[in-house]
Order: sequence, then C-alpha cells, then structure tokens
Amino acid sequence: MTKDFDETFGDLTIRTQISRFIEAAPPPEIHRLPAVDKEYTEKLIASGFAVEQVQFLESAVQYAPEGIVVMTPGDDGSPRVAFANEGYCRMTGRTRETILGESPMLFGSPESDKAMVDALVHPLCQRRGFEGEALATRANGSRYILDLTVVPAHDSSGALIYWIAYLRDVSEKKAQVAALEHQVLHDVLTDLPNRALLEDRLQQAMLAAASDRMCVGLLVFDLDDFREVNDTLGHHFGDAVLRQVAGRVASALRPVDTVSRLGGDEFAILLPNLVDVRDAMKVALAVYNAFLEPFDIEGQTFEVGASVGVAVSPNHSNDAAGIMRCAEVAMYAAKESRNGYLPYAPDQETATITSLALRVDLREAIDHNQLVLYYQPKIHLRSGLVTRVEALVRWLHPERGLLQPDQFIPLAERSALIKQLTDWVLDGALAQCRAWQEAGFPLHVAVNLPTQSLLEPFLPQRVSRLLDKWGLDPRVLKLEITESGIMADPPHVLAILHLLRTLGVRLSLDDFGTGYSSLVHMRNLPVDEIKIDKSFIMGMRHNESDGAIVRTIISLAHSLGHEVVAEGVDDEETFKILSELGCDLAQGYYLTPPLPADELMRWLEKSRWGEGATEVLRKGKTAH
Ligand code: C2E
Ligand code: CA
Ligand code: CA
Repeated sequence: MTKDFDETFGDLTIRTQISRFIEAAPPPEIHRLPAVDKEYTEKLIASGFAVEQVQFLESAVQYAPEGIVVMTPGDDGSPRVAFANEGYCRMTGRTRETILGESPMLFGSPESDKAMVDALVHPLCQRRGFEGEALATRANGSRYILDLTVVPAHDSSGALIYWIAYLRDVSEKKAQVAALEHQVLHDVLTDLPNRALLEDRLQQAMLAAASDRMCVGLLVFDLDDFREVNDTLGHHFGDAVLRQVAGRVASALRPVDTVSRLGGDEFAILLPNLVDVRDAMKVALAVYNAFLEPFDIEGQTFEVGASVGVAVSPNHSNDAAGIMRCAEVAMYAAKESRNGYLPYAPDQETATITSLALRVDLREAIDHNQLVLYYQPKIHLRSGLVTRVEALVRWLHPERGLLQPDQFIPLAERSALIKQLTDWVLDGALAQCRAWQEAGFPLHVAVNLPTQSLLEPFLPQRVSRLLDKWGLDPRVLKLEITESGIMADPPHVLAILHLLRTLGVRLSLDDFGTGYSSLVHMRNLPVDEIKIDKSFIMGMRHNESDGAIVRTIISLAHSLGHEVVAEGVDDEETFKILSELGCDLAQGYYLTPPLPADELMRWLEKSRWGEGATEVLRKGKTAH
C-alpha cells in the first residue's frame, strides 16, 4: 500500500497526500478500544506496571519542554485526548481539565485541520504516523505555528492502542527565519526587494511568460543629478528621496509589478505579463511623469528627475542577465540624450560611449598609456604611520584633460574593457610598489576590483602571475571589493576570494554600509579590512544616525577580527572622533587627496604624517 501511496501522491505535501488518500481509499477498519480515561496513570499501574517505573516515566514526560499528548480511540474510533503534559498546557494556556476528552482538532484551527483528524483515524496514519505544521490557537485566542508529530502505538496483536503527539510552538523560529530571509533579499534603506530578489523574480517571470507567449518588461531608472542633492542638501535628504521613490512610482504599477532598488540611486521595475513593448513604454512614461512633481522634504522643495531605460523579453533578449543589461544601456542612452525614457536599441551600445564625447575610446587610452595612477595614503591612527596607499586611476585625456574615474569606470564596466583596465591598474600599482620598495619605502598598495573581475575564474592566477612578475610578497597587495560585487554570484565570488586569500593577498570590503544586508554578510566574508563608506564618515559630524552607524560598524568589525578604515575623512574634527572611536585607519582629503606617485613621495617626506612614516620605513629597511 505504501508503494501505491507514494506513486500516486509522491510530491504533494504530507497533509494533502493524506487527505487525497482518504478520498481515494475505501473506508478504514478501526479497532475499537476503551474511550478516554482520566485516571490513565492509575490504570497503567493497575495493569501491572511498577509504580516507580510509571512515576519515573511520567515525570520525564511531564517536564519535557515540548508538548506531549496521548490520545486513545474514542467510541467512534476517532482520537480523544487521554493525557497532556505541562509543556502542552503552558504552550496553549489551557488547563488539563479542558483538554482531556477533546478531539485533536484542538491542536490546530478547526477549519484547516479537519484533514488532520481524518488522517489520524485512517489506516495509513495508524501505521506510519503523521507529521506536519498547523496554525493553532491558544486559550487567549492568539495564533501560533505548531509543529506536530503523531506516532501511533500498537499492541502485540498489531492493533492500534493509542497515538502520542509531540507538539512544538515554532512561531518564533519561523519569524526569525522569515526576518533573516527578508533582510537578505531586501534593501535596508527602502525595504524594497534588492537586486538578488529582482533577478530571481525576473527569471520566474520570463519562464512563465515564455509558456504563455507573453512579454516581460524591465524598467531601470536612476535619478538625475542625485549626487547634487546629496552634496548640497546632505545625505539624509538623499536618503529621504530614495525612500519616497517607491511610493511615487507605485501609482503607475499593477500589484504584480515589482519595484526594486539595485543600489545607489538606481531602481528597477519588473513588469510581468505584458502584451508588447508598448505596454512597457506606457509605464515608463508614467514613471518619468512621477518625477515631474517636486520633492518636499522637511519643508524644503526641490526637483529630482529620472531617466528610464526599457527592455522587453523576448524582443531584446531571452535571458535575465541580457534583459538587465539592455535596460541599463537604454537608461544611459536616455540620460545622455536627455530623453527621459527610451526603449533599448542595439545602436545605443556604442552610442553610450561616443555620446559622452570621449572621442578617443578607452581601449586606445589603455594602449597609449593615457591612464595614470594616483595614490591616496591610509594613515594608521594609533601610530600616525602611513604604510598603505590606495591606487586610484585617472584618464589623462588628450583633449578633455584629467578625467576622474566616475567619468569612465562605469563605461568600462559595461564592456569587456574593464578587464583590460583592471589588469593595467594591477600591473601599474604593483610596478610602483616594487619601485617604492627599492627606493626604501615598503608601502602596501590597494587596488579596486570591479564586480566583473570577481566573476572571472582566472583572476587569482592573473594576480599571482603579476606578483611574480614584480617579485612581490602577496601580502603587499590588498584588493578592494564591494558588497555588490559579492552579491553578483555569492558562492562563485566567495570561492575566488578564498583562493586569493590562500595566495596571501589581503582583501578589503569597500564602500561598506551602502550595499545590501551588510551586517548579515560581514560575518562570513573572508576579508581583512572593512572600509566604512565615505558618505557615513562625511555625515557623522552633523548627523547622529551616521555617527551611530560608524560606531556600530567599528565595534562589529572589531568583534569579527577585521581592521576598520574610514574613508572620506576631510577635517580635523572627524579625524579626532575616529581616533577616539578606536577606528584603525583613516583616508581622506584632511591628510591629502590622491596624488601621483612622485608627489606622494614628496608628501611623505614633507608632511607631518609622512615624516614619521618615512623615518620608520627607512629604519625598517636598513634594519633588514
Ligand atoms: P573609492 O574606491 O571609494 O575611492 C575613494 C574615492 O573617494 C576616491 O575618488 C577618492 O579621491 C575619494 N576621496 C578620498 N578622500 C576623500 C575626501 O576626504 N573627500 C571626498 N569628497 N572624497 C574623497 P576617486 O579617485 O574619484 O575614485 C572614485 C571611485 O572610482 C572609487 O571609489 C572607485 O570605486 C573607482 N575607482 C577608482 N580607481 C579605480 C580603479 O583603478 N579600478 C576600478 N575598478 N575602480 C576605480
Ligand atoms: Ca576603494
Ligand atoms: Ca570606497
């Protein structure tokens, strides 16, 4: 019978299986046994059990933390409660008297658990028992989630004599798991689904749409000149705008659509079940219009626009990553052309680069050595020593002058060029590191790694080859990675990070605090250093919550054995507060902006910070 059962009902939940089985099976034959007996213990003793043995077992059952209930078949063969322990009374808030003689309906809610009672009298359950969860009600009416295991007991002739039920209140555990799941899949600031959850829903929607011959739309938008809002009005205004965005666009959406924050000021909207591209364009217009009204925050009115990119599957791409990319390319095109919103078109791929008026393309820049590395020191707060620097790339454009990384790194990241650029930076930074060593400055160097590099399986080998090329100990190199890099494909990226660490390379978690579910991840990451994002550091003098975040990150990072770097330290007061908070290192304009290598040398020799360092470094060098 078990075999038939499994074959017929194998992949349904236990409870549905049982109720379906009851419907399908002939009526069960039930062994009738005496009805409920309130003096159950005495009866056991009377039937020949030793008194001590009964008492011993009784107390073991009585004081068990979980609920234990024994049921015997009543006159009609259905189970009736004959015994309930303290644990069960505590859990339900009922007295034993009100429980005895009841049907097991009392475990759960009568409307949903009829199947459970039916199941208990069914031959199948009488042989195999029953396991499941039920929504149950306490005496005071409050609901909780019950985890229930019912085990049947038989006499020597094989007849069922009673059932034992083990019951646990799992509401709290369930709530904790749900809260954790929520945290991992949502953005902390806005509580919107994060990139990981959006990508999952996008994949599901694309699968469903393919079988229904429908389309799926993806809108990606970011806010225009959002940085200005942050810079002029302050970070907390920026945060308030980001929080209001979801509310703004919601009126244009259906309940099945998902708004997600991808990070920074970038959002996405998933539109399942569309007929064609026009449906998506209508929503894009509505989203664009939602930003025409000025924002009003703490009595200040200001305008923030948005640029919306639209991609539709299967028209523009058949896979989730492709659609995501198309929508982003369209968004950049919309921003560049000041068009507000645009659907994806293949010619935008090149247009996004050329329209930036960067006439020389980046590949040429790499080949013709138009890129330059600047270095910004990280100072050790306790000793006042500078022993580490971060390499930051610039583009010395023949016509446009010195371009900052924000003007071209995002471009590079949207093409395969980012790999070449990263290799160029790694090679240049290690070459410089070697040159400094030879000149008597054994500085450690940090290089920023883009998300794409973290997804490359051969990254550790390339890093290792470059270290060999320059004859450097791997410990002099630190790679700065971001949470979004890790979120791109956590198991894969973690494997790469562990490999890099095995090589001896150090890892730093950059822009910490801006990503998704930060605290959850920090625990399991193989990093040596946490860099608190400059937005918190720059905000901490004026904004209490930024100060509290900085304090928390420092103590949490220390308790996990990570060093903490504060970046964006641009004044003396912040510098002092950070020293008092026990922060390990500081980096920022207060010490110096990033400098070309030769200027950094002069700074090290001349500045109040560099002086001590060069002396110690030189001594260290001569002592070896
Ligand atoms: P990041 O890694 O967070 O680098 C720190 C940025 O903060 C640098 O900007 C630095 O100049 C700036 N900064 C440092 N101290 C202060 C301060 O006190 N006040 C202010 N307002 N800013 C400060 P930079 O050099 O413009 O770099 C911007 C971003 O570009 C970097 O952010 C990094 O994400 C990226 N980047 C720079 N170089 C590279 C590179 O070689 N490869 C990659 N993949 N990304 C790079
Ligand atoms: Ca960095
Ligand atoms: Ca940073």
